[in-house]
Amino acid sequence: MPTSEYNKKRDFSKTPEPKASARGRRIKEELATIFVVQEHSATTHHYDVRLEISGKLKSWAVPKGPSLDPSVKRLAILTEDHPMEYADFAGTIPKGQYGAGKVKIWDRGNYLNARECSMATAFKQGKIEVVFKGRKLKGKFALVRTKLGAETGAKNNWLMLKMHDD
Ligand code: MN
Repeated sequence: MPTSEYNKKRDFSKTPEPKASARGRRIKEELATIFVVQEHSATTHHYDVRLEISGKLKSWAVPKGPSLDPSVKRLAILTEDHPMEYADFAGTIPKGQYGAGKVKIWDRGNYLNARECSMATAFKQGKIEVVFKGRKLKGKFALVRTKLGAETGAKNNWLMLKMHDD
């Protein structure tokens, strides 16, 4: 049943029920979408920023970690998708294994898509804007694909930056 029907039947100046927006389903889905930032003490210490997109964790290694200063852009290297379960992982990856070293959860929480398109499309376009609702990361952030380093063959370089909140 289309939500226009739902709205037509209700007077929202009187009922405390929520008004259905055209984007309702998307908003509802994304209210529950999660992010996690794991501090990873591997050979090179870095932070792994992961966003739930289409049922997987899209992942970026951020060598210096996210910055809360809007004037600072941080390199974020796209890495392989991780399964959703990874968001709960903290522990030690044994020596000799890929990414050996300690993994700590640095922050986690939900996020909202701040763009009008879906997160999958935003990812494909290389232009993600989200509102983090974490303990450390709060407010609007962007992850933007960059050609930085392309001349040396790097294809997975993105930039992560804090945006000004409205
Ligand atoms: Mn890592």
